Amino acid sequence: MKKLFKRCVIAAVIASSFSALSVSASDKVTQQVLFKNVSIFNGIDNKLYKNSNVLIEGNLIKSISAKDIKANADALIIDGEGRTLMPGLIEGHGHLQMNGTGLADIENNRNWEELAVRSAARAKSALMSGFTTWRDAGGMGAGLRKSIDAGVVDGPRIYSAGAFIGPTGSHADFRNFTTPNETFNGPQTASGRLGVSCTADSIGDIKACARQNFMQGATQIKVMSSGGVASAFDPWQLDAYSQAELAAAVEVADAYGSYVMSHAYSKKSMIRNLEAGVKTLEHGFMFDAEVAKLMEEKGAYITTNMTAFSPYLGEIEAISGSPAASRKAETAQATFKDYLKNVNKYQPKLGFHVDCVGGVATCEQQADHSIYLSGEFIGNYYTLKSMTSTNGEIVKLTGSVLDPYFQAKLGVVAKGAYADLLLVDGNPLEDLTVIGANKKWFDAPARDEIKTMRVIMKDGKIYKNTL
Ligand SMILES: [Zn+2]
Repeated sequence: MKKLFKRCVIAAVIASSFSALSVSASDKVTQQVLFKNVSIFNGIDNKLYKNSNVLIEGNLIKSISAKDIKANADALIIDGEGRTLMPGLIEGHGHLQMNGTGLADIENNRNWEELAVRSAARAKSALMSGFTTWRDAGGMGAGLRKSIDAGVVDGPRIYSAGAFIGPTGSHADFRNFTTPNETFNGPQTASGRLGVSCTADSIGDIKACARQNFMQGATQIKVMSSGGVASAFDPWQLDAYSQAELAAAVEVADAYGSYVMSHAYSKKSMIRNLEAGVKTLEHGFMFDAEVAKLMEEKGAYITTNMTAFSPYLGEIEAISGSPAASRKAETAQATFKDYLKNVNKYQPKLGFHVDCVGGVATCEQQADHSIYLSGEFIGNYYTLKSMTSTNGEIVKLTGSVLDPYFQAKLGVVAKGAYADLLLVDGNPLEDLTVIGANKKWFDAPARDEIKTMRVIMKDGKIYKNTL
């Protein structure tokens, strides 16, 4: 009897605590924000939808209408006065953790705490420059994302690739000339120990590196399938991985419902990647008709750093500091001269990509100038689409199982999408300076904000409002 009474009391307590929970959940009014009188660039169409209203509820876009929208009595009302409301920007290929003057500097002079603190500063700067989502193309795991999502520091949503995967002597090899081989001697580099890079010379090693990355929270895999410019040992012409090796990385990514992004310069490397099932070609400078056709067949994307075609490319610290890298940059630029012509002709699914290695000021200059160059090279509309809806599709290649932001779409102003929005002075389709484009690169003065970016909202939360 006593026992039964005790059980009943416990049951009653549990039941009442559940009902208390459910009452408070249903009573909780979700915060609304109403943007009135805005022109919408929706991330997809080459036009503005004038005189529109957009209601945000919680972290999602609840409704969009040319007619008045009724909001809750306590909703925050923002009168846009005809300004443009657009999707938050998405970096398609960045490296928040790569905070040094070059790869050797990161390997030799930066310990984990400096890299962590600096990457947090970079994340904040990216968000306050309008980048509400960031696809990280190698060099860090999930620690920064977890800290941002938990509200510890401010920054964009992050899709991170974990450690770069590449063979000995590749674009992912940060060792000094005298460092022993990792496979035979264990991780000998700071980059290896800190999860920045993972040296993999066999199919087994590639799979192990990919699995390690996923274990530590990567949302996609990054492989270095060809050589690069800023690294020490690899000619950019190097085709570092065979098709079978690339397929091994794809096999592991597939098992997690995710995909592989691959650093690929040469045509041979691009074709190999596509045949192996790689979904995004990074840089892809030798893009041409044949690659365009295969990309379409495979449903693949390309993301490219437009600064590669700048006459000032050689002034990037990671290149200017090394005579070998400077020479590589010169020969690479000469070989890649048809890229822009081909991209404008075949209009592939192209993602915007800054790819900065360096500190806050350096990367703000490079991002602003990249937007300018992209507008000059491929036009404002294609640029804006690449920074919003196309990069929004690219980050979703991660698949719903691993997607930290599985709830809604990114990179569009649409009903049900995440409320990641910018309100800017002027029309970005006519003038990219309203989102920060700057004709100057290294000689641009340091800035603390983009003044024409009046409201920055991520996940329904306002991070800047100067109205
Ligand atoms: Zn990169």
